[in-house]
Amino acid sequence: PETITVGELANRMAARQGEVIKALMKMGVMATAAQIIDADTAELVVNEFGHRVKRVADSDVELGIEGVEDRPEDLKARPPVVTVMGHVDHGKTSLLDALRTTDVTSGEAGGITQHIGAYQVTLPSKQKVTFIDTPGHEAFTSMRARGASVTDVVVLVVAADDGVMPQTIEAIKHAQAAEVPMIVAINKMDKPGANPDRVRSELLTHGVVVESMGGETQEVEVSALKKQGLDKVLEAILLQAEILDLKANPNRPAEGAVIESRLDRGRGAVATVLDQKGTLRRGDIVVAGTEWGRVRALLDDRGKQIKEAPPATPVEILGLTGVPEAGVPFVVVENDNRAREISEFRQRKQREKANALQVAARGTLDQMLA
Ligand code: GDP
Ligand code: MG
Repeated sequence: PETITVGELANRMAARQGEVIKALMKMGVMATAAQIIDADTAELVVNEFGHRVKRVADSDVELGIEGVEDRPEDLKARPPVVTVMGHVDHGKTSLLDALRTTDVTSGEAGGITQHIGAYQVTLPSKQKVTFIDTPGHEAFTSMRARGASVTDVVVLVVAADDGVMPQTIEAIKHAQAAEVPMIVAINKMDKPGANPDRVRSELLTHGVVVESMGGETQEVEVSALKKQGLDKVLEAILLQAEILDLKANPNRPAEGAVIESRLDRGRGAVATVLDQKGTLRRGDIVVAGTEWGRVRALLDDRGKQIKEAPPATPVEILGLTGVPEAGVPFVVVENDNRAREISEFRQRKQREKANALQVAARGTLDQMLA
């Protein structure tokens, strides 16, 4: 389930409701026992209580599309998928731009990341790295709330002249909760006030022990502005990818997650998806959350039409009947009928959930007025 009431969560952990409410308060969430919280918040609470979370999308279990098992011999190395996180103004966008070397910052209104997407860089060694370009932590957290986890590695950007800040800490917590390894990019090293050692010791107080302090978290000193240290960031990512032994079977129907979506006046529903398993092809029939359709066109991160996308390749797809929510999983199915069946099932579930939420909200209100 993607949501749970506080009471039910306490039940499943065999904890007292008061304790769970207290834990939520510490996280800044005011809740009653009847309150419904999202999966991400619930997971943070569960971790706080020393338990582990296993997420299952019940609708998919019922439909028997929880996925085809791959044989080990069919698995091939795939590119790592990287999300950049960190405090506002510490240089996430600049680093992503420096890494793609095609400047997008200049086009940004007010310095806010408005474009959501993903891109893939190919290194001189022919190795590829996929970057998810998101505003802050949103995509990462909303994706995980909807059951998708696409990130293999988090690059945590910390400005050397500013140090660890609230959103840095939040990013650390999210990465730790998701058990995604981090690479620390100590940015703005070109600035006179840069103090990387202060960053290192501040990270230590938040449980992140970097390599130079005897820990296991790789750290790299960079200047996104001067494009310094970028090769070291990529090296660190590739090393981490090697440790993670990232593999996927390219010879199977595709499965992955929707990274972003929108309605385009001329092209209809457009979704940027990340293929996590299998190869996505033009002509495939895809179910994405409550939407479905035949892939009419596949476009790569440069807007070029392609025929197929191997694992860990971000692509834009055209041809869906509607706009799927960002963060929902997508899967290729055998035929139109199957796609329609799954889509209708999910739409019904969604309506039921919306109704249940309304009832629960009314319950909370009644309690408050009582
Ligand atoms: P974001 O909010 O984390 O995406 O940060 P931005 O990439 O938008 O950067 C915030 C500001 O810091 C901008 O004015 C950048 O030009 C500046 N900046 C980013 N990286 C560096 C760097 O390495 N050195 C210096 N001096 N400034 C940087
Ligand atoms: Mg930004």
